[in-house]
Amino acid sequence: MAKVYNWQIGREMDYPYPAFRPKRQAASVFDLNKCIGCQTCTVACKTTWTSGRGQEYMLWNNVEDKPWGSYPIRWDVKILSMLGAARWKREGGTWVYKGQTIFEAAPPGDIALGYMPESYDYASPAIGEGEASAPVKFGSIRAPFEPWFFFLPRICNHCTFPSCLAACPRQAIYKREDGIVLVDQARCRGYRECVKSCPYKKVFYNPITRISEKCIFCYPALEKGEIPRCFRNCIGKIRIFGYISLPEKADPENPIDFLVHIKKVAAPLLPQLGLEPNIYYVPPANVKNVDFIKMMFGPMGEEAVNNYRKAIERQDREVIGALILSNSTNRIISKFKVIGDYAVGYDARGSEIVKVPLTEPVVVRPYYDEKLGVYRRNDV
Ligand code: SF4
Ligand code: SF4
Repeated sequence: MAKVYNWQIGREMDYPYPAFRPKRQAASVFDLNKCIGCQTCTVACKTTWTSGRGQEYMLWNNVEDKPWGSYPIRWDVKILSMLGAARWKREGGTWVYKGQTIFEAAPPGDIALGYMPESYDYASPAIGEGEASAPVKFGSIRAPFEPWFFFLPRICNHCTFPSCLAACPRQAIYKREDGIVLVDQARCRGYRECVKSCPYKKVFYNPITRISEKCIFCYPALEKGEIPRCFRNCIGKIRIFGYISLPEKADPENPIDFLVHIKKVAAPLLPQLGLEPNIYYVPPANVKNVDFIKMMFGPMGEEAVNNYRKAIERQDREVIGALILSNSTNRIISKFKVIGDYAVGYDARGSEIVKVPLTEPVVVRPYYDEKLGVYRRNDV
């Protein structure tokens, strides 16, 4: 049992595998304030990677409508119920998780707390779609409270301490030097320990080939310096791909480090589970139920909402610049700067690859178009 330091929970923890930090860790920030729930990302992934036999039910990328959506059904409620209420304490400016991770709470003989989903659990991928947090009384013009819902796009978190990897009795799952977690299809024998132990339920068993499969972060694209399919097709432009550093080594010009470590406007999903997941979310600022945000993203989630609100109120040009670069190019943005009224993105070699205005230009058309001889209105 290795002792590892998990910065997301502010302490050392037990990890039942010889752990190592990769040379660099692939990561992403998803801005939930911009997600429109269109599922284009889901379709982009589905048509690229999981359109074969045995893959029909697989959604390496899915988008859930929170609070009621989940795929497989109630994945989050189930693991949180098993683990119990999360206890966090502020110590010396850091949030420290005082409860047990899924590794520390593992039953004897298992490497992690988990459960095996039934086929029924995968039967309703769109459950909860469009349902608000509470019903609005029929006939009422105005609700006495403010109902809310938001979209939560999910892919494999390419965790720093993956439970899928640790649980595999065949050592068929491995983590690359860039932090991407993959299943070696030749070694896998379909024991499904990974499916049982991944709390995010992002490994899927193929009943035809009898091996497990999961998101590969579109590594062939990444190796060419391009972003994954679900990123490049994102209609809401919510996703930015990059490589995250440890908090003490945060680079203010790296957009992921900047948003996660420096401005702290993005937080990981269910950090208390202990896997150090590497998809970071800018939580929705419209959700009035702070407890729900804390449950999903820990106390850093609540801080992220407050920091995001302040940044938007003060028109923080760097935060706006980093977020506006999301999906602005198919290339990976390694560094960014705000120069004048533009956010500028650079690739790993330092070459400029994209330049986006911080404010979208407003074009007012003339009321009468002389060339075409037509009247046009701007106020409709
Ligand atoms: S999210 Fe699940 S499948 Fe992905 S690396 Fe983490 S434990 Fe493994
Ligand atoms: S494509 Fe983008 S905006 Fe549409 S659901 Fe996916 S993450 Fe959200």
